[in-house]
Amino acid sequence: MNRFIFSMDAHVSEPKTLWQDKLPFHLRSRALRSQRDEKYINMIADNKVLHRMQIGDNNTDHPRLGSSDLELRLQDMAQDGIDGELIYPNLGTMIPRIEDPELALASVQVYNDWAIEKFSPYPEVFVASALLPMVDAASTLAELKRVHALGYRTATLPIKPAGDLRYNDPSLEPIWEYAEARGIVLTFHISTGLVLVQEKGPGAAVINYTKLSFENQNLVAYFVCSGVLDRHPKLKIVVVEAGASWIAALGERMDESYTAHNYYVRPKLSRMPSEILYSQVVATFQYDRACFNNIPITGHKCMVWASDYPHMEGTFPHSRKVVAELFADNPELSEQVKADILGGTAAELFGITPRRLEERRLAA
Ligand code: MN
Repeated sequence: MNRFIFSMDAHVSEPKTLWQDKLPFHLRSRALRSQRDEKYINMIADNKVLHRMQIGDNNTDHPRLGSSDLELRLQDMAQDGIDGELIYPNLGTMIPRIEDPELALASVQVYNDWAIEKFSPYPEVFVASALLPMVDAASTLAELKRVHALGYRTATLPIKPAGDLRYNDPSLEPIWEYAEARGIVLTFHISTGLVLVQEKGPGAAVINYTKLSFENQNLVAYFVCSGVLDRHPKLKIVVVEAGASWIAALGERMDESYTAHNYYVRPKLSRMPSEILYSQVVATFQYDRACFNNIPITGHKCMVWASDYPHMEGTFPHSRKVVAELFADNPELSEQVKADILGGTAAELFGITPRRLEERRLAA
């Protein structure tokens, strides 16, 4: 099958000393970095451990050689059948956990300056996402304007903003306005920001990964119910790595409340919450078969496939098999629907010409 496949969730490993080398001098001693000890990889900034991961023994059979080198990455993609990727940082996903606003802002700027240059030779294969801080509206808007001028088409905000800020705060309106007017897609990757999910007891590994996806659902409720997406009907938000079958359940739940509690509902929306949700929110998934069953309710434009390369929970090097199995379980899906979920919807969002990687390489 010769389909265009664009993974809506992939990560790049930054150079080890990126922030130590590039931050303004007075901030360098507090720079974001990762440090291994016997048991853990510790992600550190501002003299605090922001996150630590136990060193696992999995996946030694399939090292991800392209996590930082783009030529090797293209080889991995060709092997795995992937034609394009939306790129997030690795260590940089920790920046929204930095509490000092000056250090957080300077850290995203270092990443944004580095990533646009790194991926600029391959504009139709890689779409790099800029990082935005979310401490206050003014600094986020200023950085959004700066990265747009640098050439970014999409930017990512933390699932949980800093402090008490919430995404229904009216002060954030100019950000949504700016993004909508310029067609900048806003994305929200699982586990970014001040997400406090640290179960350690029985079941912890699965409980933590599951709970993280609930944060993405909460976030979507804020954008839909507060009227942000209704006031900005061209604004698209993408929620990343939290599956997609919950979209239908959330739509049903919001509609039920919107109708039954209508007396209390403010603001009133011009469309039902579910209609806003299905047309302006896009969720990425790796293994979620159940979302296809909801297509009669949600349509298929709110679900897109992703590999999460080079992460362990991702589908490399078996993406072809994963995709084939997803569709084998759902034989009634049309070719158009499959093509959109795998790459067509992503191409529309980012204005990319859907072309197979091998065709591009032959043409180059
Ligand atoms: Mn991811």
